[in-house]
Amino acid sequence: MPAGLRARWRGRWAALQQKKVWSWVLPLRIGGDGKGIWRDLVGSEFFPAWQDWKPAPSPSPTSPSPTIDGPLSAAACSIGARGRFMPAKPDLKIVLCSPRGFCAGVVRAIDTVERALTLYGAPVYVRHEIVHNKYVVDSLKKKGAIFVEELAEIPDRTTVPVVFSAHGVPKSVPAEALARNLFSVDATCPLVTKVHREAAIHFKRGREILLIGHSHHPEVVGTLGQLPPGSVTLIETAEDAKTFMPGDPNNLAFVTQTTLSIGDTAEIVGLLRQRFPNINGPHKEDICYATTNRQLAVKKVASAVDALIVVGAPNSSNSQRLREVAEREGCPIAVLTQRASDIDWTRFGNLTSLGITAGASAPEVIVEEIMDAFAERYTLHVETVSAAEEHEFFPVPRALRPETAMG
Ligand code: SF4
Repeated sequence: MPAGLRARWRGRWAALQQKKVWSWVLPLRIGGDGKGIWRDLVGSEFFPAWQDWKPAPSPSPTSPSPTIDGPLSAAACSIGARGRFMPAKPDLKIVLCSPRGFCAGVVRAIDTVERALTLYGAPVYVRHEIVHNKYVVDSLKKKGAIFVEELAEIPDRTTVPVVFSAHGVPKSVPAEALARNLFSVDATCPLVTKVHREAAIHFKRGREILLIGHSHHPEVVGTLGQLPPGSVTLIETAEDAKTFMPGDPNNLAFVTQTTLSIGDTAEIVGLLRQRFPNINGPHKEDICYATTNRQLAVKKVASAVDALIVVGAPNSSNSQRLREVAEREGCPIAVLTQRASDIDWTRFGNLTSLGITAGASAPEVIVEEIMDAFAERYTLHVETVSAAEEHEFFPVPRALRPETAMG
């Protein structure tokens, strides 16, 4: 480059840096015939601060756009971290499902552990993941919670509180805690406790009980464990409902897991009612308000977007159901994701729209993290589709309320 031209550009560069407006002025000044010069300059020693240059923000729809022809147009290009022109980020419509994320039962369970830590200090034992979310569990671990799967892992004669998770526990667990003189606090969601009570009433009335749910899920283990072994039959599928043979078809009752698919459960309940018209059961089913509302929101969004992300853990029943609902509603790509770093970008081609929801145990901070990850690749246009408003609130267990704990 001729020395004169080099000196002239050096002066311009210094002036522009001081004015801090180069992110859009510089391309404007070297537009048109200057394109070749620009390309020569990019990455050369001529820009010592180039490596530190942050990409210019995408112009907002209301900001004035410089008039530059061709590929240097600010509307068509942005400048990458190494100073190369990059194609402008494509637009992506983000449709946020509402409600999403934490439900009242999860908030209560987390509050229970945090309140126990505040009142009694660390550590606090928690039996099973307090809710099925690694981020939440890791956060509580950092505050002093120790997670165990069974009470046997807790030392004898400890005065440390033991919190039971939101999913509920078999009756044998509080009985064991009592026998060992452990100070236990039950964070079972009140809507799960309601199912336990229904099952107990049916049992008291001598009915044969069916539990519609998924085997091995902790909530199902807890509900089965409310009654003597063998007194509840698990119905997992429509096939199970078709083939179940009762002792007395006129003395039956059913309860359900709270986090099931609304559609699947309606089908199973329909089959049971068809086969056994006198079966007793809840007015609708026991699927909770949070599961219902999150599925309704996904139903509204799933068929209108190219892909849908469910923020949630693989062992979270309600999160898995949200992904299934999206698939059934015809969403081409429905993915369950725990963190932004888990996103398999090869699954998302050229998206123009993306739905996002979160299971009842997934914190909003991860929704934001995932949106940030997409914002690095796309210019986001965010809207919300709402299926219901939620105002539910469950206070922490009595033992931890100020009037009781301090009294
Ligand atoms: S998903 Fe439903 S049952 Fe489970 S904790 Fe939340 S409100 Fe309770």
